Amino acid sequence: RVVIDVDNVDKVFDASGKNSVAALQGIDLTIDEGEFVSLLGPSGCGKSTLLRVMADLTASTSGRIEVNEKSATQARQDRDYGMVFQQPGLFEWRSVLRNVELPLQVAGVAKEQRRQRAQKMLELVHLSDFERHFPWQLSGGMQQRVSIARALTSAPKILLMDEPLGALDEMNREYLQSELLRIWDSTKTTVVFVTHSISEAVFLSSRVVIMSPRPGRVAGVVEVDLPYP
Ligand code: ADP
Ligand code: ADP
Repeated sequence: RVVIDVDNVDKVFDASGKNSVAALQGIDLTIDEGEFVSLLGPSGCGKSTLLRVMADLTASTSGRIEVNEKSATQARQDRDYGMVFQQPGLFEWRSVLRNVELPLQVAGVAKEQRRQRAQKMLELVHLSDFERHFPWQLSGGMQQRVSIARALTSAPKILLMDEPLGALDEMNREYLQSELLRIWDSTKTTVVFVTHSISEAVFLSSRVVIMSPRPGRVAGVVEVDLPYP
């Protein structure tokens, strides 16, 4: 089943100005349920823009995007996505547990129910012992695990991640790569993952979309037989 359908999408920044940038040019891409797709390419090739257009954080200039057979805007309003960025973006004045339950709180879920769900998500990222801590008491890798737990709290059908491991040291990055595979396997979430690391893309993905360094174009698509099931 197709979950994300990107059809002939263009994105031009500053279209009328003299610094106009064609960040996406005629992008065609479909992503099936349960896939782990990496968008791979050098800095500036349009990976983030493509992800942001899928998430309806940036409007496309032309073309059509359907998510779960509705518009990207509707999908965003229905909370079909969880998102993780390079920076964890936790609320410093909230405990770990209250950060993770925030999406459910915003959605109006009752306290006991959202607390149980958040605790389950903290188990998933092995941070149960830290639910009363505050973000500043955690390492960068732990904060990023909290951020992943928070993105999964409302059981989104799609997880969109923009270089989520980019700010981590190598050991933390490798640890979290295996964790992500485990989480993907256990939650069956469809994942779109932006990275400029070839090894990361090949290690994690069931499919790698390689973007051309000349911005805005897909240079090729590689199906990966996961070497580490
Ligand atoms: P990547 O994620 O692959 O590093 P981006 O999607 O961030 O690439 O950027 C693609 C191109 O679009 C780059 O040339 C970048 O400078 C440009 N761009 C991205 N965001 C903006 C913006 N808000 N305004 C103007 N240009 C932008
Ligand atoms: P309580 O647990 O006492 O009901 P809340 O959890 O509602 O308090 O809010 C605690 C803090 O988090 C407040 O400073 C509030 O402004 C902030 N906050 C709550 N929801 C959001 C949100 N969606 N985005 C940003 N800040 C929020």
